[in-house]
Amino acid sequence: MKKNILNLSLSELEKEISKLNANKFRAKQIFDWIYKKNIFDFQLMSNLPESFKRVLYDNFYIKIPIISNEKHSPSDNSYKFLLQTSDKNLIESIAIIENKRVTLCVSCMVGCPLGCKFCATGTELKFKRNLDTSEIVGQYIAVQNYLKKNGISENINNVVFMGMGEPFLNTNNVEKSIELFTQKDGFGISKNKITISTAGVTKSPSGISLSDFINKHQIKLAVSINFPTDKQRSQFMPINKKTPLNELIDELKKINLKKRDYITIEYLMIEKINDTLLHAQQLRNLLKSLKVKINLIPYNPVKMFKAKPSTENQITEFSNFLRSKSIFVSVRRSKGKDVLGGCGQFALKE
Ligand code: SF4
Repeated sequence: MKKNILNLSLSELEKEISKLNANKFRAKQIFDWIYKKNIFDFQLMSNLPESFKRVLYDNFYIKIPIISNEKHSPSDNSYKFLLQTSDKNLIESIAIIENKRVTLCVSCMVGCPLGCKFCATGTELKFKRNLDTSEIVGQYIAVQNYLKKNGISENINNVVFMGMGEPFLNTNNVEKSIELFTQKDGFGISKNKITISTAGVTKSPSGISLSDFINKHQIKLAVSINFPTDKQRSQFMPINKKTPLNELIDELKKINLKKRDYITIEYLMIEKINDTLLHAQQLRNLLKSLKVKINLIPYNPVKMFKAKPSTENQITEFSNFLRSKSIFVSVRRSKGKDVLGGCGQFALKE
């Protein structure tokens, strides 16, 4: 069966090519065409012999999700993309342009199995399947090409796994994508420009722990805490029944942070649900043994969860309390709000 080259790491492609009795250095040439020169047609790879191109056509193909819709949000210069996979599933990515910093938020699943009550993806879409590596890096390629073609931006230089799905439940494909994003033979993005965001899964289906995964790849981690007590968190985030907060915090303590690094804690601010001074005190106590930065994110209402974002006053009181305890806090005006692309808001409105 033909294989999509975008699902293969360089060493895997070298092995495949050796099996076909060709010299394995051809793999590096192919990677160079794909990841550096943005060429996806074997015929255009001019330093490959014609006979080898025929071998490639017989054994491999290159396919990425296709952009089927795009929506620009002028208020924060973000672009939300609806992409279609080859089996006609729809996924979403969002690009956020802030001067030279261009961030792409990628999806890693069609839907999500974790069912957080405030999340459109988890409640409206449910879970269909994991995305494979080609579909994850394919979002990068498709969006990068779009941004270039339309004169919007030359280079996506940050990737965050904060779109549809829980990255730590699709670890094998996410791991290979991280390698393709960061290796010098791949896109060559610096490791500290890659962030994965988890709702609190501490052990992946493949058996690796969250801390081992982050320590191995030296990438950044964001954790959606959202509720500072087990009682509330289990009510709104079912994953908490499996991994309660004390276990999650113990796991986070095992992450080896460099001097200037920290773990990002995401905290949705939902009016009268998790935004009182008592919640702020509980959050501070919960996190006091960790090096963290807290992102407060005013909640974006979705159909299945009829709550409101916290008021400005409440957000100010909450953040001032945390700052008074020497915690670094930022209030994130959720990027892509106008196009429903903020955190936990991905649910295919088109
Ligand atoms: Fe899944 Fe994240 Fe939505 Fe929770 S918030 S259901 S983990 S996509």
